[in-house]
Amino acid sequence: EKIVPADIIERRKKLPIYTKKNELMNAIVNNHVLIIIGETGSGKTTQLPQYLKEVGLTITGRIGCTQLRRMAVKSVTKRVAQEQGCNIGEEVGYTIRFEDMTSEKTEIQYMTDGILLRECTYDKMLSNYSAVILDESHERTIDTDILLAVLKWIIRKRNDLKLIISSATLDSVKFSNYFDGATVFNISGRMFPVNIIYNPFQLYDYERSAAKTVIMINEQKERGDILVFLTGEDDIETLSDYLNYEYKPSSLHYNLKIIPVYSALPWEQQALIFEPAKKNERKVIIATNIAETSLTVDGIRYVIDSGYVKQKVYNPKKDMEVLTKVRVSQAQAIQRTGRAGRVGPGVCYRLYSQSQFDLFPSAPIPEIKRTSLTNTVLLLKKIGFINLNDIDFLDAPPTDAINFALTELELFEAIDKTGHITEIGIKMASFPLEPNLAKMLIISEVLGCTEEILTIVALLSVSNIFFRPKKKQKLADKAKSNFFTNNGDLIMMMNVYNQWHQTSQDKNWCHENFINHRMLLEANSIREQLLDIMKSRKMKLKSSFSDMTPVLKSICAGFFQNVAKKKPYLANRKKYDYITLPSNEVVFIHPGSCMHKVLPAWVVYQKVVTTSKEFMRGITPIDCSWLIEMAPSFNLQI
Ligand code: ADP
Ligand code: MG
Repeated sequence: EKIVPADIIERRKKLPIYTKKNELMNAIVNNHVLIIIGETGSGKTTQLPQYLKEVGLTITGRIGCTQLRRMAVKSVTKRVAQEQGCNIGEEVGYTIRFEDMTSEKTEIQYMTDGILLRECTYDKMLSNYSAVILDESHERTIDTDILLAVLKWIIRKRNDLKLIISSATLDSVKFSNYFDGATVFNISGRMFPVNIIYNPFQLYDYERSAAKTVIMINEQKERGDILVFLTGEDDIETLSDYLNYEYKPSSLHYNLKIIPVYSALPWEQQALIFEPAKKNERKVIIATNIAETSLTVDGIRYVIDSGYVKQKVYNPKKDMEVLTKVRVSQAQAIQRTGRAGRVGPGVCYRLYSQSQFDLFPSAPIPEIKRTSLTNTVLLLKKIGFINLNDIDFLDAPPTDAINFALTELELFEAIDKTGHITEIGIKMASFPLEPNLAKMLIISEVLGCTEEILTIVALLSVSNIFFRPKKKQKLADKAKSNFFTNNGDLIMMMNVYNQWHQTSQDKNWCHENFINHRMLLEANSIREQLLDIMKSRKMKLKSSFSDMTPVLKSICAGFFQNVAKKKPYLANRKKYDYITLPSNEVVFIHPGSCMHKVLPAWVVYQKVVTTSKEFMRGITPIDCSWLIEMAPSFNLQI
């Protein structure tokens, strides 16, 4: 018998879901598909898999439960492992991209929705699982939507697979109809009233407004923790710094315990989220939308909502996917407000006006309607859907986007003219990578530079390896310029990685050179895993040593759709601009790129970021003849 601390057992019994435990277990036994609706914090994510286990479902297979964010996967696994009295990776484990913490023993497996979708590509029937919980379905990520469609197809063939759709708020009728009238089970959560106050300081700038509101609460309002919703690392760090270093509460007020929460944070820091505040403290959690429903933080009395969220916005005309700040939907704003009413009556400060709120879209647009489908279509082809019209989607993706994805996959030679997946396509799908990076790896085998491209692909799979702290930007830029090379930004990153290896992965060397040591370690581990996949596929591993041409050509083979050509120089134009092909958009070289002064005639870029202009980042110089060699059917009309 496992030993579980008494307080943990007690906490489980206090969750709203517990009052309905028996009813819920009956519903699980009696239904093939069950839709479960419950407030955030009612215990769905942590308790449902354990209830399924009590019903006996681990006897015939694993219980899989999807989450939308890596951080949520890890945090919830940690909690459930405690509740089950085991270590992570034993009875309770998790899988995220590039990290598998499961074993023979594993009965409950948390994972991202993307991982489960990948699992379908090698095990179409999901035969390892006796139950699948699609959690947080209300967010309608593309992977969840695709899983819904694939699972709808699987359960027709597998009577023994339980499917549970779970969510905080959800159009339960739509889901129920989609699954032929499936039962909807409601878990009523406790909710206290929340008073909504619009735009307390009438400021346009939500960052300043958030800072003022935190201080006002601390100085005027009674005890209770604060949850601030911002959009990402930049605004979260700015506000954290301000409250940590610029604001000095007087002895009359609580000390602020600032806890930033965003996906790029080191995992160790995230444990702080759940630590209760000390007597003289007030917790201030400054988070992205991850705290909307994915992570439940207890003890919140005050919510401050910026009204913004960062969202991937896809422009099919330009084939560009950009992370942009957009207004939240009304549904999201309501979720955020609700976070203040879990422990008692709360207050939500909305940093916008009521009339602005009225103009917000009522619900977010499902991701499947606004994203690139190339990767998804490749996975569907690998699973075995030849004709995509046969798939019964909850909301069908736009025909244009599907056609675009098919064209792109044909250019990659991943599918043939009849729409069937090719050998190259099968190989590409076997890497947990975006199709362009997978294609790079496959070409590098042919060109004899897998060692170099492996490093580059691994580095492109982590966040920026160059540090640029706000207060030391000049020094950081100087340090970066020491690595500049005429072969472009990707080769520059590879050189950094190789030099770091020559110093035996020295942390100090990283510090002195403004390099993010943690990112290099992460890239290192990703590289190992990709190497394992290549070895298991018996791919030939080779280095091109000092010859960079094959490396540049491989990059070109992955990024040919992101090609830009320098416009002829005109004396009256101050900046050198580039023009993308074939879409003819004007773009510029980012000032942080090592190509900023080199200005090659032809480049491929990793992505475009829009600030004052549209800037290309991750730039590689190419020879335009390589385009014809690497993507023969790419219509350039040079
Ligand atoms: P739901 O999925 O319905 O939103 P959860 O099952 O995620 O609810 O959360 C139930 C409770 O477990 C919450 O009170 C939450 O704070 C707590 N909890 C979840 N993860 C952790 C963790 N890693 N450490 C401590 N408490 C946690
Ligand atoms: Mg949950």
